[in-house]
Amino acid sequence: MRVCYKHFRGSFKSWQQLFLDATDFATGVGADRLISISHSSDHSDGVVTVWYWGTPERCYKCAYDLTGNESGKCPECGTAV
Ligand SMILES: [Zn+2]
Repeated sequence: MRVCYKHFRGSFKSWQQLFLDATDFATGVGADRLISISHSSDHSDGVVTVWYWGTPERCYKCAYDLTGNESGKCPECGTAV
């Protein structure tokens, strides 16, 4: 396993929407693999980061469930697995 992270950002979104997106993702990651959720702001741009332990069964970028995947690519974000 390796430590992975996913950013949620966008000046067009509200903080509440970023946190909602992050918590939805964190829920999908699962409590046993979730490390922490942090946030920072850069001028008007907010960034929420979800840190978690990644496994080969899930895409290390977006945590998409890759169980049974044989294409070698994440169908969600295109990352090679
Ligand atoms: Zn992915």
